[in-house]
Amino acid sequence: SNQLAGKVAFIQGGSRGIGAATALRLAKEGAAVALTYASSAQAAEAVIGTIRATGGRAMAIKADSADEQAIRGAIRQTVEAFGRLDILVNNAGVLAVAPIEDFSIEDLDRTLAVNVRSVVIASQEAARVMGEGGRIITIGSTNAERMPFAGGSVYAMSKAAVAGFTKGLARDLGPRGITVNNVQPGPVDTDMNPDDGEFADSLKLLMALPRYGRAEEIASFVAYLAGPESAFITGASLMIDGGFSA
Ligand code: NDP
Repeated sequence: SNQLAGKVAFIQGGSRGIGAATALRLAKEGAAVALTYASSAQAAEAVIGTIRATGGRAMAIKADSADEQAIRGAIRQTVEAFGRLDILVNNAGVLAVAPIEDFSIEDLDRTLAVNVRSVVIASQEAARVMGEGGRIITIGSTNAERMPFAGGSVYAMSKAAVAGFTKGLARDLGPRGITVNNVQPGPVDTDMNPDDGEFADSLKLLMALPRYGRAEEIASFVAYLAGPESAFITGASLMIDGGFSA
């Protein structure tokens, strides 16, 4: 369908995995898409190229989500290029796993900067320019509610933080007709968590559906939340996790 025709989407972290699948899906539904990346310039350009090849409008912006001014600048650049902003997807995320005795403060700071602080900064910058019907969607994790293995405490904390932020932000922006939601995936086959990785079999044992999700399945849910039919959903953390948390 063309349910996002005329809309402009900004995806924080859209070069690979769930973010790249989301960029492609939102573009397919008619949105102009700006995506950021930190290091994968080639992968980002490939996503942009695919969108342009099918007649869509897209651009890639190098902007480290740990850098406040880079995030703000990328959003401003998007509004300058495409004229407006309707959909913000906060997808950029990092995963550092280590027992608490060994967990480095560098990894703590990086996790909080990319998984939490960037969500606040981008949401603030976007809220200044979004109009009625705006959409803010963050990719959290089922690990906000269930963290069934050791070493994931800081990651789980970061994903619980955005679940709380989503509730509060929905209250700030509801009167303006802007919805705010948090998508909580379970294991999804990406570079971060490959289906053939060392933890994959043990994760599948915890799921009602004993398989990994595909990035496209998450992108489909994000597209629904970005569209007009989801207008009554806000402040919600929504599981799409194959029953990982069931
Ligand atoms: P990937 O590692 O495959 O991709 C991460 C994406 O985020 C890349 O585009 C990467 O850009 C970007 N990114 C990372 N750090 C930064 C940064 N500092 N600045 C800008 N962009 C950055 O991850 P996934 O697709 O698996 O994960 C996406 C989101 O989904 C994350 O928030 C993750 O926590 C969450 N999630 C993932 C699950 C999974 O099983 N895969 C499960 C539950 C949640 P670059 O290419 O430049 O590095």
